[in-house]
Amino acid sequence: MEKDLDLRRIWERQEDNQRHWPIVDLERALIEFTNGIFEEGVELQNALGLFKQNLKENDLDVEAALLQCVDVAKYVIAVCLALKITPEQFQEAFFKKSDVVDIRWASQNIETGKPIIILDLDDVLASYTTEFDRYVLEWCRARSISTPMEKDAESAKKDFRMIGGYSLLKPVPGAVCGFKQLKEWFHIGILTARPVGDYSRIYTDTLSWLKKYDMVPDFILWDRDKVQALSRLKCAPMLVVDDSKKHVFDLAAMDFNILWFGQDEYVPSYGNAWDKIAMVRHWSDVIYHTKALLNEDNKKEGKLNE
Ligand SMILES: [Mg+2]
Repeated sequence: MEKDLDLRRIWERQEDNQRHWPIVDLERALIEFTNGIFEEGVELQNALGLFKQNLKENDLDVEAALLQCVDVAKYVIAVCLALKITPEQFQEAFFKKSDVVDIRWASQNIETGKPIIILDLDDVLASYTTEFDRYVLEWCRARSISTPMEKDAESAKKDFRMIGGYSLLKPVPGAVCGFKQLKEWFHIGILTARPVGDYSRIYTDTLSWLKKYDMVPDFILWDRDKVQALSRLKCAPMLVVDDSKKHVFDLAAMDFNILWFGQDEYVPSYGNAWDKIAMVRHWSDVIYHTKALLNEDNKKEGKLNE
């Protein structure tokens, strides 16, 4: 028996098994296979005797469970084969999905100890606007559109999201180093309004992008309503970094401390909210401000301890 685990061989063996039942009607076949997953799942529960009273660990029939796990997996692979999903694609998606699970778990179980900082993603970590504008120009050029209208930009935006445009962005200058530095001082949460509910691939595109640039946060919050998202956190963040005027002033009005990224001009008419906002142009300014804030905080704690 070969020792190496080989997903491709498993795929081929299942395909060979299925030669007796060639797929004539794809929809019917998929219904049959997915029903099979459920049915074999129930068989697995039965094999384990999960609903017996006073079940003890010693009673579990691992051998029988193994055979049932194989049956569940054979139906799962049958679905993949019917959809022409290769073992390589399955493996890649498996690891991506595992990262998603890690991050989701971390977002619900933030340890205390370090303070929390919340970072916006687009135009704070990822250079979105410049590169999206370039994409729109190319998109229009390819369609011989000389004067782009709003609807063209909207269509381009849809395409951008569907082809995985977010995974092609470059980091904002200084973001990678800045992130690394912040990670030493804070639990980092990313709060983004990217429309993950409308385009499922945004989730994995975003995570693999963050991983690629070594900017893996402790948790990610996906919410267009940033005030609501932060209000749900168990511990209030010490600081929020965002570039959007709307988010900045909404959050400042709710008493969050904000660094308004990419700004250095005074914007009047927002009254008291300014007490909570500092404007920062570059990532070096973010580090400067956070360091000062942490020092101030340490001093305060020192005083309390005296
Ligand atoms: Mg932004």
